[in-house]
Formats: sequence, C-alpha cells, structure tokens
Amino acid sequence: MKNYRFSAVERAWEHKPIVVSASEEKLQTVFGRQVFTRERMRDYIAEQTLELLFDAIDNNKPIGRALAGSVAIGMKKWAIENGATHFTHWFQPLTGGTAEKQDAFFGFDKQGRVMEEFSGSELYQQEPDASSFPNGGIRNTFEARGYSAWDPTSPAFVVDDRLCIPTIFVAYTGEALDYKTPLLRSIEALDKAATDVCNYFDKNVKNVRSNLGWEQEYFLVDKALYCARPDLVMTGRTLIGHYPAKSQQLDDHYFGTIPERVTAFMTELEQEAHKLGIPVKTRHNEVAPNQFELAPIYEELNLANDHNLLIMSLMEKIAHKHNFQVLFHEKPYAGVNGSGKHCNWSMSTNTGVNLLSPGKNPYSNLQFVTFLVNILKAVQRHNGLLKASIVSATNAHRLGANEAPPAIISIFLGTTLTQALNEIEHADLDHGIIINAKKEMKLGVAHIPEILLDNTDRNRTSPFAFTGNRFEFRAVGSSANCGAAMLALNAAVAEQLKYFKEEVDALIAGGESKERALFTIIRKYITDTKAIRFDGNGYSDEWKAEAAVRGLDCETSAPLIIDNYLGEKAVSMFERVGVLSLAELRSRCEVKWQNYSMKLQIESRVLGDMVQNHALPAAQRYQSILLDNVKKMQDIFGKEGITDLAAEDIDMIRKIGNSNNRILHLVAEMVALRVKANHITDERERAVAFHDTVVPKMEEIRALVDELEMIVDDELWTLPKYRELLFIR
Ligand code: ADP
Ligand code: MG
Repeated sequence: MKNYRFSAVERAWEHKPIVVSASEEKLQTVFGRQVFTRERMRDYIAEQTLELLFDAIDNNKPIGRALAGSVAIGMKKWAIENGATHFTHWFQPLTGGTAEKQDAFFGFDKQGRVMEEFSGSELYQQEPDASSFPNGGIRNTFEARGYSAWDPTSPAFVVDDRLCIPTIFVAYTGEALDYKTPLLRSIEALDKAATDVCNYFDKNVKNVRSNLGWEQEYFLVDKALYCARPDLVMTGRTLIGHYPAKSQQLDDHYFGTIPERVTAFMTELEQEAHKLGIPVKTRHNEVAPNQFELAPIYEELNLANDHNLLIMSLMEKIAHKHNFQVLFHEKPYAGVNGSGKHCNWSMSTNTGVNLLSPGKNPYSNLQFVTFLVNILKAVQRHNGLLKASIVSATNAHRLGANEAPPAIISIFLGTTLTQALNEIEHADLDHGIIINAKKEMKLGVAHIPEILLDNTDRNRTSPFAFTGNRFEFRAVGSSANCGAAMLALNAAVAEQLKYFKEEVDALIAGGESKERALFTIIRKYITDTKAIRFDGNGYSDEWKAEAAVRGLDCETSAPLIIDNYLGEKAVSMFERVGVLSLAELRSRCEVKWQNYSMKLQIESRVLGDMVQNHALPAAQRYQSILLDNVKKMQDIFGKEGITDLAAEDIDMIRKIGNSNNRILHLVAEMVALRVKANHITDERERAVAFHDTVVPKMEEIRALVDELEMIVDDELWTLPKYRELLFIR
C-alpha cells in the first residue's frame, strides 16, 4: 500500500520547470503597463482636472466628489481598454494581507439600457461588508459599517479582470480599521516635523518624504508535499517534524545557484511585478534550503508598502502555476533559519537630500547628525513599542530564538559613526566650533564623510542597524504588513523631532546662536542615548543581562509585548502626532490579542489531529510489527532464547508504548487547557493563557513526536519529512 507521503513525493519529483521565456518587449514598455500612472492619466483625463488632482495629491488637499467623478471617467476607459470588467477597492485589514470587494462596471442609463458604469462616488468611497473584519470593538453591531476611501497617492492598477483602487478602510465614526490610514497619517506627521527641523539648515526644504526598501524572505515548497502536510496547509508552518541530518550547516545554499524550477518562478514573478510597476531588482537564495529573498529598489513608503502587499499575492498566484507553495510564515521549520522582511527606511527632502546620508560638507553633516541622534532618541524611548509593532504569533518564533532578531530592540551604528559621536560629545564647545562665512563648521562632524557606504560594518545580529545611508529595521516578520512597524517608527521619530525643535528654539530664544543651540542639544542626546546603542552580539546571553540593566524592554511573551501600545508613553506619542487615538490603539491591541489566540487555537487543534491521525497510528503499526517479530522469534527460540536476541526490540516496543501513552496524556492536557483558555472572555487574558499554558504543552508533544519520527520505520511514516520538504526541487 502506497501511503500519502510516498504519492506526494512521487508527484513532487514529477514537477518539472515550466518554461518562462524572456519578454521580447523592452523593459521600458513593459514597466508599469498595468498601472494608471500620472503619465498615462494625461491620455485619459483633461489637463485642468489633472492639475487639480495633482495639486490635491501633492499638497495634501481634499479631493471633492466632482473631481473624483472626472477622474473616474478616464480611469474606467483606461481600465476597460486593459481588460478590466470589474473594479475593486483594495484595502489592508488588520487581519493581514489585502482584501477586496469586487463590483462589475455595470449599470443602466436613463433609458434603461445596460452600460459600463463607474461613477466618481464609486471611485471615491465604498461600503464593503465590513462585519467580518476585525475591529477590536470599535464598531457596534448597529453601526457595523466600514468605509473604504480612495488613496490617490498610490496609483490604481489592473490585475486580471479587475481595476484595483488602493483605499483606506475606516469605521463609520472615522476610526482606522486598517494599516494604511495610520501609515498615511504617520507619513504626514514625519513630513511636517522633519521639514521644520530641516529648515534650521535649509529654508528651501518644503517637504520630507519617508522611503522604504523591503527585502522579502520566503520559502518555496513543492505543492504536492505541501498538500500532504495538514499543518502547512492550515497554519503555514510545520508543527512537528524532525530536524534533517543536513540543513544549513554547510551554508551551501546562500548565494548558491538557484534551482531551475525556482528560477522559472522568479522570472515570471519579475515580469508580472514589472508590469505592475514594482521595481524588483534583487533575487537570491537565503541561508536555509529552499529559502529565497526578493527586493525592489526603494520607493516612497506608502507606495513601497502597497507594492509589498501586492507582490505577496502575486507570489502566491505565480507559485501555484509552478507547482510551488510560498511560505511567508516567519518560522515554517523548527531548527531552520526563519524569514524576515528587512525594512530599509530613510527620509529625503524635496531638494534631493537623503537625511540619513552623511553630507558633502560639515554643515550638511550637522544635519545628518541631527537626524541620527533624534532617531536614536526616538527608538530608545519607544523600544518596547517598536518591538510590539513587529510582534505576532508567527513572528514570535523568531523573536528571542537564536537568530535575528533578538527580543530586545537596540541600534547598531558601527565603529566609525560611534567614534564620530564620541568626538562630538567630548568636543569643547567654546573652542571647537569654527564657523566661517560659508557656514562651514569644524568639529567631530567634519570627519563624517569618511564613512562611505561600504565602510559601515555589518552586524547581522542587530534588529535595527545603520547601513550607510538608511536604517534597516530587521525585526519585521516576513508575513507582516510593514505598515505596522513603519507607522510606529515614523510616529516616534516625528514626536522626537518636535521635542528637539522645542529644545533648540528655547535655547535660541535664550540668546544662543542657532549652531550652538543645535550642538548643545545634539550633545545632550548623544549622552542620553547610550542605552540603545549596542554593536556587540545581539544573540548572546550577556547582552540579555546587560540590556535589562540598561532599562530596555526585554519581555519575550508576545501577548505582554503588545501591552506597549497602551503604555502611557506610546498613547501620548501617538496622540501628539495625530497618528492613532486611544480608541484606535485599544482596538488594535484587541485585534492583535485575538489574532494571537486564534492562531494558537488552530495550531493546537491541528497538532492534536496530526498526532492522533498520523503519528500515533504509524508508531502503533510499527510497534505491532515489532511485537509480531518478537512473538515469532519466541516460537522458534523459546522464551529463554529471546532474552538476548530480542532485547533491543522489546526495549523499542516499550519505548513506543511509553511514548504513545505520554503523548496521548499530553494531548488530553493540551485540549483541556485550550478549552479553559477559550472560555476566557478578556482578549488579553486569553492570549496570555494560550501563551503560558497551551504553547508549552505543544512544545512537549512535538519533542516526543519528533523522537518517534526517528524511530518508526520510514515506510510507515505518513507525513513528508523535513528532508523532503526542504530538498526536493
Ligand atoms: P542588503 O541589505 O542585502 O545589502 P541591498 O543593498 O540590496 O540589501 O538593499 C536593500 C534594500 O535597501 C533595497 O530595497 C534598496 O533599494 C534599499 N535602499 C537602498 N538605499 C536606501 C535608502 N536610502 N532608503 C531606503 N532604502 C534604501
Ligand atoms: Mg539588507
């Protein structure tokens, strides 16, 4: 009898690479073809309308319905020409991923004739059936309405037969129910606060934008094998499975050749991404077998985040065609490297200056140092919150494990920059600053241009690292919406820049020169931010002890980390910069706790099933083969005869018996604890109960089942093993 597993393995081997030919068209014609870009709008929308639209977008002005109506006519025409029959408001609910409500371009004209209809109000606002999206108590049933509203800063695009319109998703009462709304608010808050600070250095700076370059890590697994693993299908990760003899010890996968079948997938993915205007550029193998990374050229934050979400759904779709399943889970395989989504973040001005790039002259270096120390200060103050912004039931498997990131947020600056800060800190203010007519200054900052990009040392153990012209927030999970982390970071930095300006202005008002005032506060910040700066090994136990002494948040329990959102510091910060209200923060936490419990509830159920329907029956079958064998030996050699001959077999029979018993007992305990946790009505308490009581049982069960996997006859084991999941191409 061929089991489940063997037929899956057989099918997996049969899957051959699908030929994807290189596009014959020029990249210039293909790139952005499915996007309603500004350029394309010119062919479909009247000049005057466009002027109003661009002015509204660029200067954050409201767009009236009349204007939306004119835009909708052109947008519909373009979309229909490009194969769209439907339109959808595309939004980012708190459950993760994206959601759509599709409507046809369909209506009747005044004479009752059918026509392709798409009005300004349909572009502008929709009311999706919102009751199935989590809201954390913001919406009562009597007003269970949510609205999606057009975000004109991110261009509409066509996927298959749909015109997709990026939208925000808010409650009837205006509270955000998604990631995009607060992200946009945070972009605006940072723009304002950073522009004010830039104006100390250059009055021509009118706005500051935030940038994001994400690096998406993921695993690919053969579809047939995936389907034979209930845990992968239901939870996105393996709940049991023994570590394979070979995994990543040899580091031979990293930057190795990409398997043909995977290359075919990547090629098609890149072609489709380019059509959607996503500037993907980099692809390579990651540390673990069958783990890969994809990265675009960085873009404005809101657009970059939309592009990340869009490409995640594109990846799933294209992988399917190539008989792969993409695993976005942060830790699909225990004992094997997990996946993250490094968020490369920076700020740049309308004058073309990257504020995180050391400048060409000492004066612009002073600006660079100003932003640098403010970021240090913001991250130090809100280190717990930033950790909360990346925590989830799935990312919790990476946090604190012996890989990036550690469950403590610290900043890596590298030796050169650290030294430059030390010099500034200890320079003599009265003799140190020399400012000539050209506004050139001499002080520690003058040395900074020397730290060119390639000069910054790399520290892979740091969750938040300076990498030459940007910060890299590495703790973000591979399955996450980057918006959660980015909006917290933007908001924290915006708040901090406001404090900075207040402090500097106070000194100036007291008669200090601007330069001296800036220096004074910068130096104070350098001294104040020692706790957050750490260049050593973030995985070490010494660091955990040291970080606690420094007062950094060292909590490792996901449900408790979430508390940071409701801490006094976070609440006042979010309110001060207008990014999230207390009600919104509360609702977000409820949703986070709820998601946590739901995920664990599902995992624990699936584990119970797999143990009882797969692992234990296999072990029992093997045990009964052994029993049979011993019995037959006894028939031939007699009772005395087998004491030596079958000693090992008898031991094994006992071992399996004990183990099965113990596992069944643990499963019963786990179920009881789960039922108990499920009865708790308070979301936070329930999540804590899952974390504290159900998770440890799951781990105990897993350890025993993984031992069984090593003992039981390979032919009897019904679940694809790690070596198959990870090495079949
Ligand atoms: P790695 O960190 O692996 O060396 P890369 O050099 O490929 O990665 O860059 C990673 C990401 O950082 C890319 O998306 C890149 O566009 C982005 N990036 C580069 N410069 C900046 C910047 N100034 N601001 C934001 N992102 C940036
Ligand atoms: Mg990187």
